[in-house]
Amino acid sequence: MRRLKKTFKKFINFLFMDVKNEKETKDLAILIRLNCLVLAMYFFVIGITVAYQFRYGTGLSMAVAAGLTIGAFILTYEDLTRAGLALLNTVVIIFPGLLSLMCTYECGFQYMMFLNILYVYFNKGNKPLLKRIFAVSLLICMIFLNILGPEFPYFLTPSHEGMIILQILNILGFGSCISVTAYCYSVKFNQSEDKLRRINENLEKMANLDTLTGLSNRRHMNEYLADTVFEYNRSGKIFTMVIGDIDFFKKVNDTYGHDTGDYVLTTMADIFKRFMKDKGHVARWGGEEFLFAFENTKADKAFEKMEELRKEIESTPIQFKDYDFSVTMTFGLEEYNPRLGIEATINRADSKLYEGKTGGRNRVIM
Ligand code: GH3
Ligand code: MG
Ligand code: MG
Repeated sequence: MRRLKKTFKKFINFLFMDVKNEKETKDLAILIRLNCLVLAMYFFVIGITVAYQFRYGTGLSMAVAAGLTIGAFILTYEDLTRAGLALLNTVVIIFPGLLSLMCTYECGFQYMMFLNILYVYFNKGNKPLLKRIFAVSLLICMIFLNILGPEFPYFLTPSHEGMIILQILNILGFGSCISVTAYCYSVKFNQSEDKLRRINENLEKMANLDTLTGLSNRRHMNEYLADTVFEYNRSGKIFTMVIGDIDFFKKVNDTYGHDTGDYVLTTMADIFKRFMKDKGHVARWGGEEFLFAFENTKADKAFEKMEELRKEIESTPIQFKDYDFSVTMTFGLEEYNPRLGIEATINRADSKLYEGKTGGRNRVIM
């Protein structure tokens, strides 16, 4: 039993094996392989049935059809997926067409030919006009077959029971091919959708985040603030804005280099992210300016918290290359004032930041 399971697993792996050539697509190869397997079995069973009924060489022609489908199957492992598709198309046109002309139209062999439209459209080639011409030609063929059907001089007429068996086999063959093809379409569709979703998520992240620090950028912060103001208007939840700027940052760049300056920015950002968790939101507002929004927090409470943060910054050693130093920051704080609006509230916080700078830096002004 275990061995059987292992063999089955190996067979599935073989069936879903990737194509070697980058120019070919795995999903088309899998569509061909699955359909070829179903069709080889179909032709085999049909071959036995017609050989038994008519005792003619018709059964042998089905062996040829089964052999060709296996050939198309093998081509998908030999960097010849397109050739495999062409062979599959040819087989699914010629043999069902021949059978429907030989052993009466009512057996329903001709419907297998419709599968070709699905196969051709699955292929990602950039020839939509050819595909349309192919589909329309096939439909015209089917209409002619339908008109000629009752008049055609069939030389193999199955018995009533034989016809029912052939009809059932055709339903099973056609249904199975449609099912495996639908499976391939759904896998392809889901994969494309997943890929698109991942790309969209990445794009959204890129549009919202500052690349150096990983903090929200100004654009995203503005969106966040619009939501926060909306929530304030709805529920009256007070919030406080703080704007902070690194002291003498130009000097850091000049003394230790721009890369050290960047390191300071990312170190600060990491501290802010951790500190603001569960308190609100923080963004890189400009070069070395950061904007904090304390949700559900009045000015005095936000002031206490900012004092904590200011002390943490002051006591955090910046160790980069051979340098070991620390930086300080100055902050201006303003509770949201609905009469002023968000922009004027931030401007007030900014004026307080300026006040803090002129007053000696490394402080929080409320
Ligand atoms: P103050 O205490 O008055 O704020 O003095 P300051 O030297 O910090 O002055 P200011 O705020 O005007 O300096 C901003 C400096 O920040 C200038 C610019 O070179 C630097 N800066 C802005 N963005 C970046 C960045 O992404 N990386 C680095 N390394 N430096 C930056
Ligand atoms: Mg500045
Ligand atoms: Mg500065």
